[in-house]
Amino acid sequence: MHSLDRFAETKLAALDGAALRRRLTPTARHPGAVLDRAGRRLVSFSCNDYLNLSTHPTIIAASVAATQRYGAGAGASRLVTGDHPLYDALESRLAALKDTEDAVVFGSGYLANTGIIPALTGKTDAIFVDELAHACIWAGAKLAGAALFTFRHNDLDHLASLLAATRGQARHALIVTDGVFSMDGDLAPIAGLAALADAHGAWLMTDDAHGIGVLNAGHGSAYGEAVPLQMGTLSKAVGAYGGYLCASRVVCDLIRNRARSFVYTTGLPPGVVAASIASLDLIASEPDYCAQPLRKARLFTEALGLPAAQSPIVPLILGAAEAALAAQAQLEAHGFLVAAIRPPTVPEGTARLRFTFTAAHEEADISRLAGLVRPMVAVPA
Ligand SMILES: *Cc1c(COP(=O)(O)O)cnc(C)c1O
Repeated sequence: MHSLDRFAETKLAALDGAALRRRLTPTARHPGAVLDRAGRRLVSFSCNDYLNLSTHPTIIAASVAATQRYGAGAGASRLVTGDHPLYDALESRLAALKDTEDAVVFGSGYLANTGIIPALTGKTDAIFVDELAHACIWAGAKLAGAALFTFRHNDLDHLASLLAATRGQARHALIVTDGVFSMDGDLAPIAGLAALADAHGAWLMTDDAHGIGVLNAGHGSAYGEAVPLQMGTLSKAVGAYGGYLCASRVVCDLIRNRARSFVYTTGLPPGVVAASIASLDLIASEPDYCAQPLRKARLFTEALGLPAAQSPIVPLILGAAEAALAAQAQLEAHGFLVAAIRPPTVPEGTARLRFTFTAAHEEADISRLAGLVRPMVAVPA
């Protein structure tokens, strides 16, 4: 056997042994919360398409029309010839939704975080990251090469003490957090973070991947707060693909010049950009619809006597990876898809079921699901 194949086989065997191996499952999603997978039709509580816009007829029609008009691909990076006319419309809508001067769109949220953070900070600077921040924030922070400090989850006192101890040694300081935590569904204390940033001369950046379209009438988790760097994705509630930064005009211009994951990659396909534009128009005009995912999540937490959901994401921590997989299988047997989330996506010993609620979930399905989950809630983590 080739040494490379032996290496891969050994690594995979270790993952198998720890119940941590992942496998792809071809999944055909349909309008609403329904999908087909391994020959079965399931109601999914594991999609981030919170407003079900990826299958909305108006959004699809906009995407098809743009593909016919401008082609299937962008043909080059945005700074060369890939900046097709739809980009400007998308960036204006994002800036309007977030009430910022400007916005810049990236290929994905992952690309946004790995481009923005190193474009703004380097060796002479310090970055402060919430311990439960998304993997791509960590990737960006490591790429920056700045001194990197981790603060305890949502712990303003801990962050304040780290800033007090280290801020003096850094030229610039950047605080980065998820606005809505992707695996826990709780919210960052954005007002408190903004006050700390102000007090210590630091810049605050929030990742609104799970807030845009669903919190504060669709404006997202940082709306109305003093957050100069509002990053997010077009791949969740917006139902399409891409990442963005909403910020001042001069910061966006710097990002267009210096973020490597913006400069050295091809523009998004026109059909994808058109879908985001149509989704943002719908989000701007339908605040009641935007409130539905959180309302549905709260029906679920209420039925189980859990603290009220703060976002459309509700975790149920079960501990061992095997326990989370068994719980997933049990729900699947009843026609519900709820993906088990295991380390390293979440910390060791906190494997969980992660429920995500969408506007299209039927109340009857939510209460039937709650009935199945109730016995699991009693199990100590
Ligand atoms: C999903 C997610 C991303 C990545 O966005 P993509 O557009 O899927 O690359 C970034 N940050 C958070 C918090 C996320 O949940």
